[in-house]
Order: sequence, then C-alpha cells, then structure tokens
Amino acid sequence: MRVRELVKSFEPYRVEEGDYPVRLDKNESPYDLPNWVKEEIFEELRELSFNRYPHITSMPAREAIADFYGLSPENVAVGNGGDELIRYLVRLFEGGYVVTTPPTFSMYYFYAKLNGIPVLEVPLREDFTIDGDAIAEKAGNASAVFIASPNNPTGNLQPEEEIVKVLDTGTAVVLDEAYAEFAGKTLWRLIEEYPNLIVLRTFSKAFSLAGVRAGYLLANGEIVDALYRVKSPFSVGVMTMAAVKVVLRHYDLVERRVAKIIGERERIRRAFREFTYPSDANFLLMRLNAYEFLLGKGIAVRKLAGRLDGHIRVTVGRKWENRKLIEALREFLEVRECG
Ligand code: PMP
Repeated sequence: MRVRELVKSFEPYRVEEGDYPVRLDKNESPYDLPNWVKEEIFEELRELSFNRYPHITSMPAREAIADFYGLSPENVAVGNGGDELIRYLVRLFEGGYVVTTPPTFSMYYFYAKLNGIPVLEVPLREDFTIDGDAIAEKAGNASAVFIASPNNPTGNLQPEEEIVKVLDTGTAVVLDEAYAEFAGKTLWRLIEEYPNLIVLRTFSKAFSLAGVRAGYLLANGEIVDALYRVKSPFSVGVMTMAAVKVVLRHYDLVERRVAKIIGERERIRRAFREFTYPSDANFLLMRLNAYEFLLGKGIAVRKLAGRLDGHIRVTVGRKWENRKLIEALREFLEVRECG
C-alpha cells in the first residue's frame, strides 16, 4: 500500500490544541445556544426514533429552511456542514476545471484537487474584490466558479455587478454566503433569475451550530436533484435536523447576537484602524505579524500565508475576549516600536 503523493501534498490537519483560553481562530459564534433553546431541541429529540436512519434527503430540515425563505424544499439541499456540499459541488457539473479567486476559503481548492479536478485561479484585485470580466473570460470551459461573499479571509462582500458578470456566462456559480448574516446583504433571491446560481449557507456562524454540523444550499430544483443523486444518503442525522428546526424558530435571537458581534467587530477595528481592513463578516483581517505573540498570551488566531503573509485573521469573540485581544495587540505594537 502506498498513500498517493497528492494526498501527502496536503497539509496535516493543524489545530492549536494547546491551552488557549481565548479562541479566535475558526470564525465560530462566541455565543453558545442559551439553555432554553437547547431544552427545546431536547424536547424535539425525545420524539425521534434513534434506531431509524434519518430521512434520506433530509426533508424535515429542508422543509424548515424552505419555510424560512418562502421557497419550496425542492430548492434546498442540506449537508453535514456547508463543507460537505462543497465536496459535491466541485464535481457536479460538466467542465474542465473549477475557478477560484484566491485568497479565499481553501476548501474549494482542496476538494477539487482531491477529486483530481484542475483549479484555475483568478486572484482577487488589490482591494480584494473579484474581477468579474477576468473570471467570465475563464468561465466558459469551467464546471463551476466559487465565489465567497463575504470572502474568507479578507472579510469583504463582493460587488453584485461583478458577480452578475460571472452569472451571465451561464456557468455554475457557487456563491458562498457563509457569513451573509453579518453583512446584512444576500443575493439568494437571484436564484429565481439565474438557474446556474447556487447559494451556499451555513448554521455554523450566526446560528451558533458549528459543533452540530449543518449547512445548506439554495438553487434551482435540477441542481438540488442532481446533488441528491450523488450525496451520501444519511450524512445529516436526526439530531442535526432537530437543531436546525429549532434555531430557525428563533431568528430574533440570531439577529440580536449578530448585532452584538458587529458592534464588537467595529470596536476592535477602531482600536487598530491603521492595520485592519473593513469587514462584512464576524472576523477581521489585520496586517499584523502577531500570531506567535498572541499565542504566547493564550490567544489563538489564524495565521495567513502567501499573498497575506504577515497578516492574521481574528474572529470576533465575546466582550472579555476582545478586550484581552485589544490589550495584547497594544502590547505587541509597543514592543515592536521599542524593539
Ligand atoms: N464557506 C466559508 C467561506 C467558510 O469560511 C466556512 C467555514 N469556515 C464554510 C463555508 C463551511 O462551514 P461549515 O462546514 O461549518 O458549514
């Protein structure tokens, strides 16, 4: 037996497993669900048969999501995290390669490569916006174009007119809106106009369910149908579907938390305006080579590389966590100035 060279070329799974009391490295919600919401989920669980497989196409969760949007369940697919859906989307459509726009979420590249699908990269412009014309030029022979808006790790929304340029090519466009709740803007309604648009969303961020693993996409029925032909049948369990149903009932709570996170995001940004890019998400991109320094203070953030070498991505945390971050970064800047 020999592990494929391609597999060896992927980075080992890297997690700061140490004792870091402040974890601002994974863009999770810093707020767990309150106990009264968990109790509601437990009530739902009581009624479920744990001995039976979950619904083969996750209908209970799709119905709840469809109701939330005023769509039909035929326009909704649910996955074990948005991540699982990306795994299928890289190979669902005909074409010679997928297009990505680095620096962006690495899983598009990862799953394409793992499936032996070439990746054509059309880098973001200097200001981190996508170049719609450049992508459209390459999109003709592509199976799909992946665009994250707001983008991870740069934090910015992508301009609608640039996205539309890509949609007008007719190639499948996966618009990853994992952080849309923090931006207050979404293009999901364009799925009615563009049958080639797939809007990807997740419960891992604004909805506080990263540990439960639930993501979904909104798209035309043909795409949803195609996806369910190839998707693992039981990857979304009954517990996950119960949690999804309950959190969707409490969107007011999600909105209040999103508002708090945005308030905190802007507070951090104001403190380090010179080094921090504007953000439409629940994290900030900072031009500060402070990764090791912060680890030393018990604060885990994401270290970036390549074009973003010397930058860190910092998830907005709870107030006390952000206070610690601000204190530590102030110290970092002082030490840097003295040294
Ligand atoms: N898209 C983007 C841009 C993300 O940052 C993430 C999570 N980091 C995901 C999708 C997937 O999230 P999940 O698998 O937790 O739904």
